[in-house]
Amino acid sequence: MSIYIFLGPPGSGKGTQAKILANKLRIPHIAMGDILREEVRRKTSLGIKIEKILAEGKLVPDSVTGEVARVRLSLPDCGQGFIFDGFPRTQLQAETLEDILKSQGRKVDKVIYFSILLKAALERLSLRRSCRGCGAVYHLKYNPPKHSGKCDACGGDLYLRHDDEEDVIKNRFEVFLSETKPLIEYYKNRDIVIQVDASKSIEDVTKEIFQALNV
Ligand code: AMP
Repeated sequence: MSIYIFLGPPGSGKGTQAKILANKLRIPHIAMGDILREEVRRKTSLGIKIEKILAEGKLVPDSVTGEVARVRLSLPDCGQGFIFDGFPRTQLQAETLEDILKSQGRKVDKVIYFSILLKAALERLSLRRSCRGCGAVYHLKYNPPKHSGKCDACGGDLYLRHDDEEDVIKNRFEVFLSETKPLIEYYKNRDIVIQVDASKSIEDVTKEIFQALNV
């Protein structure tokens, strides 16, 4: 069983690394932000309710993300494990996750903490581009698409996420520091935290994670 939580500030590269590890281990990469953005894109009743919260870089209520997590983790593809990227982000969410897993006779195996100076993360986010079609993520300098403005995977248009704009990023960093960073201590007390130097290149961070997990 491989149940991994990826924790770090926006721009720390956790989504990129989660995809790489998920591919290697053949387990799903579950990105809470992607699930919520998809609800907004499809204009579901949930999507309409949370659109403004996402646009402002604030946290969606714990009751909402808890329910999304509960449903997603009960799907059969999570049977051999999964990587959760962007959940939990609060103490209450961590407790909810524990409850969900406990009811399935499972627990979190490792928490990968992506440590990076906020200044470096900010620089990354301004050059991040996301695909409108499939959600793939690029970096104009470190991981550029083959054809400018187009996704390599699906040919969709690339755009700067509204919440990657500077005024919103500030909120997201503040939320990370006040709500999410304290979780590292919570998981450290259980001795399951692996801290990686997320300021390194994509390849080097991958190496560090693979080594630490022995995969
Ligand atoms: P991300 O793609 O992980 O950067 O998430 C984008 C946005 O989705 C966040 O700024 C929040 O508004 C919302 N979001 C994602 N994950 C959570 C979560 N675990 N709890 C509350 N809101 C979340």
